[in-house]
Amino acid sequence: MTSSSAPSAAVTLLTLGGTIFMTQDAPGGHAAPDDDAAARLMGTLVDGVVLTPHEIANVSSSDVRQHHLRAVLERARRAVDEGADGVVLTHGTDTLEESAFLLQRFWDREAPLVVTGAMRPASAPGADGPANLRDAVAVAASPTARGLGVLAVVDGQVHLADQVTKTSSRAISAFASEPSSPVGMVDGADVRVLHRGPGRDAPRPGTLPDHLPRVPTLMAGLDDDLDLLDHLPADAIAGLVIAGVGMGHVSPAAMPRLRRLLRAGVPVVVATRIGSGGTSTHHYAYPGSEVDLLDAGATMAGFLPPAKARLLLQVLLTDGATREEIREAFAAHAS
Ligand code: ASP
Repeated sequence: MTSSSAPSAAVTLLTLGGTIFMTQDAPGGHAAPDDDAAARLMGTLVDGVVLTPHEIANVSSSDVRQHHLRAVLERARRAVDEGADGVVLTHGTDTLEESAFLLQRFWDREAPLVVTGAMRPASAPGADGPANLRDAVAVAASPTARGLGVLAVVDGQVHLADQVTKTSSRAISAFASEPSSPVGMVDGADVRVLHRGPGRDAPRPGTLPDHLPRVPTLMAGLDDDLDLLDHLPADAIAGLVIAGVGMGHVSPAAMPRLRRLLRAGVPVVVATRIGSGGTSTHHYAYPGSEVDLLDAGATMAGFLPPAKARLLLQVLLTDGATREEIREAFAAHAS
C-alpha cells in the first residue's frame, strides 16, 4: 500500500527533547538541550502539511516523567479531536520505546501518534534529526497509518510501539522491530505500510496515572542468586520483573526468594535479557527454568523485553488486575 500525504493535512508536533533538539558546545563536543534547535528544525517540513508545534519539555530520555507523558496524551487526544490528522512526538532515543509502549496502552484514537528522535545532535555533521522529523510528519499525515496506534519512525523505518526496540547505542539505524519486522517504510512523503501487525490490546479510556507502582527490574546472570531480595521487605515493592537468562531462567538458589515474594502476593514477571526470541513456557523443566518459575506462580513476559514488561505490569497493577488477568495480558505478547 502506498500513499502520499494529502494536501493540507494537519499534524500537531509535541516536543519533549532528546538529542534531536540538542547541539554541541564545540565541533565534536558535548551535546545538551538547546531551545533554538527546535525552532531550526521546524524548517524540515513535508509539502502540504500544516504543522502546529507545542513544547511539552526539552529534556533527555532519562528525565522523562509520567507527568510529561500524561501531558503528551492529553494534548495529542485534544489535537486529534480538534481535527489534526496525526501527532508527532519528539523524544530522546534511550527510552523512546518505553514511552511509545506506555502511550500505546492509552492511545484510543484512529489517528497515528508517531514518536521520533535522532542519534546525532542537531549541530553534528550528518545529523539525522531533520530526516527523521520529516518522515515522522509524513507518517502522521498519511491515511495509510490510521489505525496502527502509536508508531516509532527512525531512519526511514516505521515500527509498532509494542515491537520497537533500540538495538544500538550509537548507530544511526538504532532501532528494530521484535519479533517481527518494521511495519512500514518512509522516505519523505512516500509512506508504505507493509503489514498491519498483530491486533492491539484494547486501549484504556482514562489518562496515565501520575505515578506508577514501584516495580524494580533485577537481571539474572552467572552465579547470581538474586540475594538482594533477602534485604527487601515484601511490602517494599508492588511487583518484580526479572531479566532472566536465555528463554527466561534464574539460578536454582534464586527460586526460594521468588517463591517468598509470590506467596506474599507480589507478582513476578520473568522476561529475557536477550534482545531477540522472547521467553518460553515449555522448553526446560530444571530448577530455575521457565517451567519451575511457572509452577511457582511467576508470569513469563513473552516477547516483551524487561523494560516494557515492567511498564505493562505497572499499568496492570494500577488497573487492579488479578494474577490471572496479569497472566492473560502477558500471554497476549507471547505469540
Ligand atoms: N541520550 C539521548 C536521550 O535519549 C539520546 C538520544 O536522544 O538519542 O535523550
